[in-house]
Amino acid sequence: MVIARYFIYSERHFFRTPVVLMLAGLILLVPRGLQLATENFNLGFTIPHLSDILNFELYPKLADYGQFILIVGVVILIVSYLLKSFISGLSNNIRSMMSQYASTKQAEEVEIRKENDLKLREKEITSKQKTPHVVKCPHCGKTNSITGAVGKCKSCRSAIEYKGK
Ligand SMILES: [Zn+2]
Repeated sequence: MVIARYFIYSERHFFRTPVVLMLAGLILLVPRGLQLATENFNLGFTIPHLSDILNFELYPKLADYGQFILIVGVVILIVSYLLKSFISGLSNNIRSMMSQYASTKQAEEVEIRKENDLKLREKEITSKQKTPHVVKCPHCGKTNSITGAVGKCKSCRSAIEYKGK
């Protein structure tokens, strides 16, 4: 994820290094290119200082170096492009996987909360049913303790009802 973030963050500077290398290589190769052009196409004019540059004893080495960094720049460009597309594909996969995981998790949590609510309600109902209520019998006046909302008077056996809250 850190690598992916690095590549997404540095997207703007991503191609800068290979492009700089390629440009530097091209600039170093310009005199050699001009030499080839004047030799092959007989341009009819001479470019000032071209022969000076070409006769400079370090120039062949510089031209080789230019060729080298041009190739290196192209290779880096291709490799970084491939790497970038691979990593962006990967990070997209990770992102969609994570959002999928999050939504599944959320659904699970909702399910668990519903289940807990249901259990709580059931518990409330059963506890209400099991709570003993003191009810005064409307027929004989004796106080009875009943569980639940309805019961029977212990002395006269008539039906009694708990009318509390
Ligand atoms: Zn009674």
